[in-house]
Amino acid sequence: MNAPFPPILPTYNRSDLRFVRGEGTWLIEEDGTRHLDLTSGIAVNALGHAHPDLVRVLTEQAQALWHVSNLYRIPAQERLADLLVEHTFADTAFFTNSGTEAAELAIKMVRKYWHDHGTPRETILTFEGAFHGRSTGAIAAAGSEKMTRGFGPLMPCFHTLAWGDHNALHAALDESVAAVMIEPVQGEGGIRPLPAQCLQGLRDLCDRTGALLVLDEVQCGMGRTGRLFAHEWAGVTPDIMMVAKGIGGGFPLGAVLATAKAASGMTAGTHGSTYGGNPLACVVGAKVVEIVTQQGFLDAVSCKAGQLRQGLESLVATYPEVFEEVRGMGLMLGLKCRKPNADIVRAAQAHQLLTVPAADNVVRLLPPLTITGEEIAEALARLDKAANSL
Ligand SMILES: *Cc1c(COP(=O)(O)O)cnc(C)c1O
Repeated sequence: MNAPFPPILPTYNRSDLRFVRGEGTWLIEEDGTRHLDLTSGIAVNALGHAHPDLVRVLTEQAQALWHVSNLYRIPAQERLADLLVEHTFADTAFFTNSGTEAAELAIKMVRKYWHDHGTPRETILTFEGAFHGRSTGAIAAAGSEKMTRGFGPLMPCFHTLAWGDHNALHAALDESVAAVMIEPVQGEGGIRPLPAQCLQGLRDLCDRTGALLVLDEVQCGMGRTGRLFAHEWAGVTPDIMMVAKGIGGGFPLGAVLATAKAASGMTAGTHGSTYGGNPLACVVGAKVVEIVTQQGFLDAVSCKAGQLRQGLESLVATYPEVFEEVRGMGLMLGLKCRKPNADIVRAAQAHQLLTVPAADNVVRLLPPLTITGEEIAEALARLDKAANSL
């Protein structure tokens, strides 16, 4: 007899760990075993687990009102939009429940913009190693064999360029291009930061050709690099930006932020979401933005990032047969490995240290932005033991 199909669609390669509680940077199993969490649910729990302020605003909102849909005004959504407009380049925000939904709207916004601007442009330039989500549009945008095989036909408008190939970019980015979509720091692609001068050059090329610059800050945004958004390091702004992951602090929430010009085609009836901008998500999102933009918070992130990076650099020096280099920005760091990254993730897990693999044989370290100096020291000690065990 055939084995029964698993009750959960088997699309994930899960570890056997089962956590039942979280406290700050720690995840706790049923038997009480504590793990140091340098994954943050893949850059989601920006303020760690069970942050008291987030628990408070969520439970208060849960007692007041869960959902009304976008038929009505939602005070928490308005508050979050005001905060994001105040702290970013954006004039306007649309709320989603995930990063991939933000990618879908970003693509639609680009199309509508060009539809409304006389000469329709279709091509959107994207980059090898990118990750924009798992919707049909988002997998076509990233274009990788791994994500797209078996799911064709794909949306045809994307043209994927090699990461770092300036000649190919210059050749491709002309006045037929509708937009360029890029992560300022590639996450799934292996923690690959786009150098500031490249982002500046890209902004320049977009200005000259009229192409819209769409930044995917789903993983690198919300304080992860030590600025509220990673593009701030380069001193340029996008036309459209996708946000998710960290902004909800663990509650499903995403957003598209845009300039008035880029968003000009998105009039009543052109887009929508039943849950997007739900009160529960938005009270949490507003509190996350409030905390991350508090005086000193991002400076502390940069300071802790320096400590973690320095520790990782010395691990690379100590174990050159295990690690090749450290890369990334802020608390979005990657260890490029010589041994298979899966072995290192497993060895770290055996020492109750949680990390995330990424492409290009990288181990990602994405701790909560609230991680303490002592926890960083503890994480480094555990990583040392893990590397030693290999
Ligand atoms: C995770 C991620 C997405 C997709 O977000 P989901 O919430 O999983 O749909 C898109 N872009 C980037 C850069 C991401 O890291």
